[in-house]
Amino acid sequence: MKEKGYNAYLTAQKQFDHVADNINLDDATKDLLRQPGKEIHITVPVKMDDGSTKIYRGYRIHHNDARGPAKGGIRFHPDETVDTVRALAMWMTWKCAVVNIPLGGGKGGVICDPREMSLGEQERLCRGYVRELSKNVGPVIDVAAPDVMTNSQHMLWMLDEFETIYGGHYPGAITGKPVGMGGSLGRTEATGYGVVYTLREALKVMGIDIKTTNASIQGFGKVGKYAAKLYQEYGGTVVAVSCWDIEDKKSYTFKNEKGLDINALERISNGFGTINKEKAINELGCEVLEGDEWIKQDVDILMPCALENQLTTETLKHVSKRVKVICEGANGPTTTEADEIIQKKKIFMIPDFLCNAGGVTCSYFEQVQCNTNYYWPLDEVLEKLDRKMTDAFHEVYNLAIKKNLYMRDAAYGIAIKRVADAVKMRGWV
Ligand code: GLU
Repeated sequence: MKEKGYNAYLTAQKQFDHVADNINLDDATKDLLRQPGKEIHITVPVKMDDGSTKIYRGYRIHHNDARGPAKGGIRFHPDETVDTVRALAMWMTWKCAVVNIPLGGGKGGVICDPREMSLGEQERLCRGYVRELSKNVGPVIDVAAPDVMTNSQHMLWMLDEFETIYGGHYPGAITGKPVGMGGSLGRTEATGYGVVYTLREALKVMGIDIKTTNASIQGFGKVGKYAAKLYQEYGGTVVAVSCWDIEDKKSYTFKNEKGLDINALERISNGFGTINKEKAINELGCEVLEGDEWIKQDVDILMPCALENQLTTETLKHVSKRVKVICEGANGPTTTEADEIIQKKKIFMIPDFLCNAGGVTCSYFEQVQCNTNYYWPLDEVLEKLDRKMTDAFHEVYNLAIKKNLYMRDAAYGIAIKRVADAVKMRGWV
């Protein structure tokens, strides 16, 4: 599926350059913002259960912190690259800016496959990662969170290591912690819910009733699963969901023309979002298709909620004419070339750093709750999250309409301007 030679960092830079030129950003600011401010490359030795020691390669990259401490997740993935982390750090800056929260952009990654590690090995990796980075992270410097294949337990191990090093409680140093241990209610669902809040608003401005729509979703991890749940709650029909199967090392698409039962699918999936094929066929009556058939479905809405580089010039050839909206739940799922085609086809694009900003917005709420040591009920969290996402969507949409811009360019326009203003006010350029 992936486009060969794809580089997320080059994509992020191309997107940035395109908008920076259009808004006449001065050269110094452009130079500053088109690359990360700081990069930390580390090696993390981990004692494995069999007595051997394995050395893992990890990164933490700060793109920009003019608007607040660097903020962003940590990914555990065997295919992680430094350029992907650079791109993701950059996208975090725009994400925090577009929803107007006082945070900058950062990202971390470790080249590893947690699906093939014991819990003990994962814990030692988390602690080692924080030990290596302890001087460069913390509540007022850089705040990590979960991302691809990391979860609240990983965050708590990392926080515990940080607090052990500094000898105090610093719950605002990491977000996405378990509820009851400094975590916020709603954080687990926040990214997926945020995707659907923006979709709901997009359908409203398009004059389409969500109940009459159907969708196909790539990924059944933290983002795809909760997006599917809320979309279904709103009356939409999820026709297909795809997931990666760790044993077979390939992806499968689970389909039911009449609509999948997402809660039932959740019950037969594991923590990494892999759905049990036999149970899906025998117990839920799903059709199971090999590969990335999710993209070929005759649906109104496509939600790529997995990894980068999925909507390419090649895969776009299989996208149904019926598709009206693409919600980028993942970071960077669309290549620059594919993006141009989508724009020409006039498919309504909800760009990644707006669409999936619900996670970091809830992380921000988590920090606020940690700082005041007072935790909000779920309905309060979700109401605030909905308001933030809805406001951000309409700000971007109104600019897109006013200036006749593609939604991605409008979102970039708002985000870059906010960060550029902060950089100028601080006197950096
Ligand atoms: N990893 C999520 C993202 O890409 C959330 C980051 C955070 O909560 O800091 O937006």
